[in-house]
Amino acid sequence: MAMMSVADALARVLDGAIPLPPESAALNDAHGRVLAADVVALRTQPPDDLSAMDGYAVRSADVAKVPVTLEVVGEVAAGHPFAGKVSDGQAARIFTGGVVPPGADTIVIQENTKREGNRVTVTTSSPPKKHVRRAGLDFTHGQALLPRGHRLTERDLMLAAAMSHPTLAVHRRPRVAVLGTGDELRPPGSKLNPGEIIYSNGFALLAMARAEGADAIDLGVVADRLDETIAAIRKARAQGADILLTSGGASVGDYDLVQKALTAEGLALSFWKVAMRPGRPLMHGRLGEMHVIGVPGNPVSAFVCSLLYLVPLIRRLSGRNDTQPTPESAMLGIDLPGNDERADYLRATLTLKPDGTLVATPFPTQDSSMIAALAKADCLIIREPYASPATASSACAILKLKSPL
Ligand code: AMP
Ligand code: MG
Repeated sequence: MAMMSVADALARVLDGAIPLPPESAALNDAHGRVLAADVVALRTQPPDDLSAMDGYAVRSADVAKVPVTLEVVGEVAAGHPFAGKVSDGQAARIFTGGVVPPGADTIVIQENTKREGNRVTVTTSSPPKKHVRRAGLDFTHGQALLPRGHRLTERDLMLAAAMSHPTLAVHRRPRVAVLGTGDELRPPGSKLNPGEIIYSNGFALLAMARAEGADAIDLGVVADRLDETIAAIRKARAQGADILLTSGGASVGDYDLVQKALTAEGLALSFWKVAMRPGRPLMHGRLGEMHVIGVPGNPVSAFVCSLLYLVPLIRRLSGRNDTQPTPESAMLGIDLPGNDERADYLRATLTLKPDGTLVATPFPTQDSSMIAALAKADCLIIREPYASPATASSACAILKLKSPL
């Protein structure tokens, strides 16, 4: 099979991938998820005219000429309306959030009054509706405020709660099973025998899937054996994985058994070679309903391929429209040679010039096994296939790497 371009490979990964069915999610489990239905207000907010200040609810006509002394006939606190009425010459003590009692039409703030026993002297007049939050000021019953397809922010959760929705219809989270392969791999903290290394990919790939809102299933590591690999694939299916992400064993070596195992299980292969560096032996296909992405074992390749293909797939299944992280523009920090037939994703640092320009400088060594440089990188510089040599200070496209908030 010929090498496929990154764009074609991504199009194949997303082809036929549709948002997962809706489910009802509690508000505390809805952040970042995509609404599967419009959300309509089930109540009016505020439900009544409420006081915005601490003070006295009075009739504006009574305080047109000041000073004036009024009789205090009751008290209103938030959640405790006044059963009576405010008539001529009367006032009700009121606190922020209290319902403006019948008869009163304005609030005099506490600072503009003097209280003596059950009488209050108002020293400043107050026009109608002053310091009153009118019923429906925020929203009204039946108003559609959050549309289907919208991705929920923290603020939207506040709004949905205020609209009286304890749950929301959102697309189900994709279940992503992550599997490592390799005889040589041992968990962090292990005492290593000759030839062994530490299993590191899975930690980044699981975290990436979770950060994108997926439910991540850690399938650990299997040895380079067909039976073990097949057993792990079956486990992913049994656990209802929407996506199986394998790392390692995806190439053409004698011990690269992932494709063999998947084929034995009935994989409909869509491609296994992409014109990119890092990550040429990248595999994709479907096993029944399950999407399968096989990324190479080299940690940098595993990470970059997951960023480029897994993240968009998770987003698509989650119902998001912004499937791809958008490249930004920066200035090259050094000269770069012309490129061959593969797109390059160079690990680079970013610095900011005093005029606000971002300068992207690739690390001198770009080996796909170098985890420390990957961790230190701020971005990937994208070099298109057959790109001409580029000089320092010319423009380049970058993909910023996430840093925690
Ligand atoms: P493979 O794609 O299986 O040929 O692996 C390529 C290289 O990546 C080999 O040097 C492996 O030892 C290494 N490797 C594979 N899987 C992992 C992993 N999960 N964590 C760290 N290194 C890995
Ligand atoms: Mg291997």
